[in-house]
Amino acid sequence: MHDLTEGVARFRRDVFPAKADLFATLAGTHRPGTLFIGCSDARVVPELITQSEPGDLFVIRTAGNLVPAHGPAGDGVAASVEYAVAVLGVTDVVVCGHSACGAMTALAEGHDLEGLPAVGDWLRHADASRARTTATGGDRVSALVRENVRAQLANLATHPSVARALARHTLTLHGWVYDIPTGTVEELGARPAATAA
Ligand SMILES: [Zn+2]
Repeated sequence: MHDLTEGVARFRRDVFPAKADLFATLAGTHRPGTLFIGCSDARVVPELITQSEPGDLFVIRTAGNLVPAHGPAGDGVAASVEYAVAVLGVTDVVVCGHSACGAMTALAEGHDLEGLPAVGDWLRHADASRARTTATGGDRVSALVRENVRAQLANLATHPSVARALARHTLTLHGWVYDIPTGTVEELGARPAATAA
């Protein structure tokens, strides 16, 4: 915690003054262009890997970058998606998976999640991704990571706000996979958008 306190002090002292004008504008303006949905993994930092400024990205981070399909009960993810698309009017949504994802590894390798019931329940949102992943052995995790990004794009499209924006052609969905050791981003092909539309 000391590191965080020291970080805040450094931010105020060394970083904030150079961006004071930006923060003054942002104080009364919230108009991000992109909804970025990534994994909670500490190694995947949306603003860093896209070199975005404060105010650019509306961010949702969940374990395994999972987006539950639209349902009657709603949830925090659905609320954030709806707000970003229907109120903020983002024009792009990125779902970003990543290499060595703990959630995808647990699923690909069939880890026992009995002691982690909340994790086990949450990862059920990746059931379709797992069902579609036919790779075996060492490739299975990376294949599942990719399949999962596509499945979450399809889940996204079931949210009424997203479906509406897609029908009006005011929103574009993107599937990314970030590779931690090389810092590269692979853009998945057109299949997710086609599936989603
Ligand atoms: Zn992850």
